Amino acid sequence: MKQLDELKGLGPKTKNSLLKMGIESSCDLLFYYPFRYDVLKRSNIRELKQDDKIIIDGVVETIPSVFHINRKLEKMNFRFQVDGRVVQVIIFNRGFLKNKLRIGSTITVIGKYDLKHNMIVASDIRLSALPDTPKIDPIYHSYYGVSSKQIRSYLFEILSEPIEVTDYIPSALSEKYQFMSKKRSLELIHFPKSFGLLKSALSRAKYEELFLFMLKMNYLKQKKQHSIGLKREVSFSQVEAFISDLPFSLTDDQLSCVHEIYEDLTDSKRMNRLVQGDVGSGKTIVSFIAMYMNYLSGYQSALMAPTEILARQHYKNLVDIFEPYGISVAVLTGKTRAKEKREIYSGLKNGSISIVVGTHALISEAVEYQNLGLVITDEQHRFGVNQRNYLNNKGMTPDILYMSATPIPRTYALTIYGDMDVSNIHTMPNGRLPVITTIKKNREIRDVLESMYQELKAGRQVYVIAPLIEESDKVDLENVTILESKMQRAFGKLYQIGVLHGKMLAREKEEVMRSFEKNEIQILISTTVVEVGVDVANATMIVIFDSERFGLSALHQLRGRVGRSSLQSYCILISDYEKERLSILTQTTDGFQISEEDFKLRGSGDLFGVRQSGDMQFQIADLKKDFSILMRAKEDSETYITKGKLEENPILKEYIEKTQTLA
Ligand code: ADP
Ligand code: MG
Repeated sequence: MKQLDELKGLGPKTKNSLLKMGIESSCDLLFYYPFRYDVLKRSNIRELKQDDKIIIDGVVETIPSVFHINRKLEKMNFRFQVDGRVVQVIIFNRGFLKNKLRIGSTITVIGKYDLKHNMIVASDIRLSALPDTPKIDPIYHSYYGVSSKQIRSYLFEILSEPIEVTDYIPSALSEKYQFMSKKRSLELIHFPKSFGLLKSALSRAKYEELFLFMLKMNYLKQKKQHSIGLKREVSFSQVEAFISDLPFSLTDDQLSCVHEIYEDLTDSKRMNRLVQGDVGSGKTIVSFIAMYMNYLSGYQSALMAPTEILARQHYKNLVDIFEPYGISVAVLTGKTRAKEKREIYSGLKNGSISIVVGTHALISEAVEYQNLGLVITDEQHRFGVNQRNYLNNKGMTPDILYMSATPIPRTYALTIYGDMDVSNIHTMPNGRLPVITTIKKNREIRDVLESMYQELKAGRQVYVIAPLIEESDKVDLENVTILESKMQRAFGKLYQIGVLHGKMLAREKEEVMRSFEKNEIQILISTTVVEVGVDVANATMIVIFDSERFGLSALHQLRGRVGRSSLQSYCILISDYEKERLSILTQTTDGFQISEEDFKLRGSGDLFGVRQSGDMQFQIADLKKDFSILMRAKEDSETYITKGKLEENPILKEYIEKTQTLA
């Protein structure tokens, strides 16, 4: 195969740019896929604009003349008649066609239209008029001055000679799906001949990518099942005693989660479990019980929360529950004072602290544990994989528990959580009523204020959500300040109003939250900093301005701030737009269904933030569109592993081992 250095027109500068794009070899270039395809249909000469790409049939009007511009470059031009209109055609280095372009013959010209000079700069000429099929043009992302066209010409050169690529799809599966060879599929992806062939080529490439991904997932899962963790001696009766001391009885789903976790912890295999359940379904207490089990067996637990507020809130609950048992709890965040920090560090090191909760400060270099046995990550999708990896590796072989309130669409659950065990909490604690959700227009604000007043009058509290903090956007958004004065005007005489936004110091935020919890504040105006996990049972209404700015899942999360007791709660979405999308929320409170809709409408990017950037990037597969391929790849890879085929395939095995980078 030709090397990059051997390619025409590829000098040191381009090579450098390619390196920056992550392309180090011809092989890398072969896997630099087009991000889209332009389709050239027959153009109508009367509708063309300057620089339009065209493909057009017409009649040769003059004998072409050929000029040599220099030794390497020759230019040919002739007059060309299309639909009664005459244009000049110029084309480079096709002098050899001169004798074939007879006056009166019909040909197809492909190129760019120069309206100003009434000229077509052709890239290709077909002597017999092309069949009336569209031409498919791959378009590549161009960076650092390397154009899509350049990439195409390099690829043309590389593919003009035999290439060597490793085909990872096992031959039995290739036969089953009648896939073309990898080489052929690469040729077609870069130089498509027809829609049908392109489609087959793409589905082969997507399948290979997804098959390898799922194979890796299944391989890791299998390996983890055999990885040795801590085998604890805990009697379930002690756990039961703890549970019966709680102020409420657990739901059936919570109980089965507890049992599953108990099995994991008392088994020698290492736990790697996700507890998935809607906001308010009671995941937190399940994690506390896990910590208790871990404590009983003599190990320390760490609980990571995505925000400062949430960490502090967990801390408060942890103290309430664990202090009566004489179990010491500490909180560690970025804002913890140096002196206190040092004390906590030494308590964790000498084992006098059994449970620590915090933000990512928990995984700073300075933190050493005496015997970390359990790591719990709350709202886990908010953490980057690296942070998790780091923490995972911190203890001996701590068991891992994740909690997530973002139900994941099935596709994503498979890919993100493919290597985990999953426990689900489907039902809400007893007595919870579904939140009643309505949509209001901005001009209906009076109705909204009236509804708020009804709740406030009944002694309840209300959240008011503005989408952005001040000064970030000068658009017509209801920012926190405007909202505050609005609310002051309406309710200032009767009720206390607090404000929470991202620019405040942690201490200030905490103070406001505490006042809200104590009902010293009745109306809390906030940006989305309250989004995750904040828990005030007496708050029964949430009003969300500019709702259309949020994804459905985010709105669902926000809505989960209310409906946290047996009181009827309400969610009012204020928006003048996108009623249809928002109305999904008025119809269902099933977080799973909502995230599925969100995914369909907005794609994956908005769902998980940070998670996307790392290991979820596929080169050619698109989970939104390629779900059925993913399902096939999943099944095939499972069978492949359980039948022991991977062990018989050294090339594939090596590939899987080598690229094993997931958490
Ligand atoms: P999640 O973390 O799943 O969003 P939480 O664990 O914060 O939900 O629970 C929400 C509220 O419900 C908390 O106030 C919690 O004390 C309460 N709760 C949890 N489980 C039960 C239960 N089985 N019965 C009654 N209340 C419960
Ligand atoms: Mg929670």
